[in-house]
Amino acid sequence: MTANNPQHFNVIVIGGGAVGLAAADAAAQRGQAVCVLEQFDLLHELASSGGAERQWRLQYAEEDLARLTIESEKLWTELERRGNRRLLYRTGSLWFGDTTTSNNEGQITAAAKILDKFGLPYRWLDAREIERTYRFARLPGYYEGFVQPAGGMTDVRGTLWLLLEQARAAGVSARGSDRVLDLAPDDDGVSIVTEQSRYRADHVVIAAGAFTNSLLRPLGMELRVKLYEMSTAYFRCLDEDFDYPTWFLFQQPTAEDSNLFYGFGRRPWATGNLVKVAPDFELKELEDPPHAAGTADAYQISRTAEWVTEHLPGLDPAPTNLSSCVISLPEDPSRQFYLGLLPGHERIAVYSSGWGFKFVPLLGRACVQLLLDKRTEFDIARFGIP
Ligand SMILES: Cc1cc2nc3c(=O)[nH]c(=O)nc-3n(C[C@H](O)[C@H](O)[C@H](O)COP(=O)(O)OP(=O)(O)OC[C@H]3O[C@@H](n4cnc5c(N)ncnc54)[C@H](O)[C@@H]3O)c2cc1C
Repeated sequence: MTANNPQHFNVIVIGGGAVGLAAADAAAQRGQAVCVLEQFDLLHELASSGGAERQWRLQYAEEDLARLTIESEKLWTELERRGNRRLLYRTGSLWFGDTTTSNNEGQITAAAKILDKFGLPYRWLDAREIERTYRFARLPGYYEGFVQPAGGMTDVRGTLWLLLEQARAAGVSARGSDRVLDLAPDDDGVSIVTEQSRYRADHVVIAAGAFTNSLLRPLGMELRVKLYEMSTAYFRCLDEDFDYPTWFLFQQPTAEDSNLFYGFGRRPWATGNLVKVAPDFELKELEDPPHAAGTADAYQISRTAEWVTEHLPGLDPAPTNLSSCVISLPEDPSRQFYLGLLPGHERIAVYSSGWGFKFVPLLGRACVQLLLDKRTEFDIARFGIP
């Protein structure tokens, strides 16, 4: 390459997280010459796709989102088959707690109604049945909920690794430690300047997670998002013969925090006796680009350990393997994500924000369809970029 001769690709993906890699894979499957540009090392754990596991569930309180998870499940199966590796484990998904609360995860009874509508199975449980079956303790008597057997968890590192491997096998050039500094769309394509080089693309996918606004602002755009650093911890199971489903607990907020917790069973792809339990607290909003501490927050971990001590007697209450992860969430939780072509710049597709891991293959494919076909087979109306 010379100063006057930038490297050309049909599709350049900015961001080598889960969605960026899925988009690169999807574009390569369609015969495009593709490059992924990632500011950190490839497969790093410094952004939203860090960590080992994510919750997988079919239930949503909104019909379009439930339909998208069903579409997404097919794409996970296709990816697993193509890569000959299991990524999605159906260990069951338990939603329980105060059925009058509604939060960014959803709402228990509304989600059950959608499961009914789609003919998807679940079992309704009262507080005592939840305690007996899943070894929770001292739940308020009015708590109830359901377990949905097709939910469970996804193997995050396995997914990233497989997507990168598949993309590379299809000819994708994936470059770490090459931060995009500037992108300039024009009628014929998009020029990109990185720390290391200059590029030219017919189409660009911005899958930059919590860093998206720093790329959009110079183009006169800004997504209305909130950035947080969320902490997680593992706890040792005392009974080696018992395992938990993935679970999410809906509760009324306290004066200090949202009072929401979630957890997993053991990772079926790993050895060991640890299960993750974490708070879903939106505390201490970060600046953009995110200035994350990179370590778990003492308050979030002590609240989680207290909750485990009181309600999960089957776990050793001493938290271990603490970590944190940056998340970008839309200010308006009902929209869930931002996904669409950038208004006025139809050569650029953007995905950002939300609890998106369960949709990873679908989000990647949708970005590529929007760029190459100017439409997508998926109903993404609520995510559109204003
Ligand atoms: C604690 C936590 C729990 C979660 N739990 C769930 C769950 O249970 N279920 C679920 O479905 N989802 C969950 N999520 C959300 C899910 O993990 C994210 O939606 C998903 O990982 C986002 O992937 P991404 O590729 O969009 O973003 P990221 O993984 O953040 O990737 C963006 C990438 O872009 C790179 N980048 C940014 N700017 C530039 C630039 N200028 N140049 C080059 N590269 C750049 C970044 O370095 C990063 O690698 C959770 C998230 C967190 C943090």
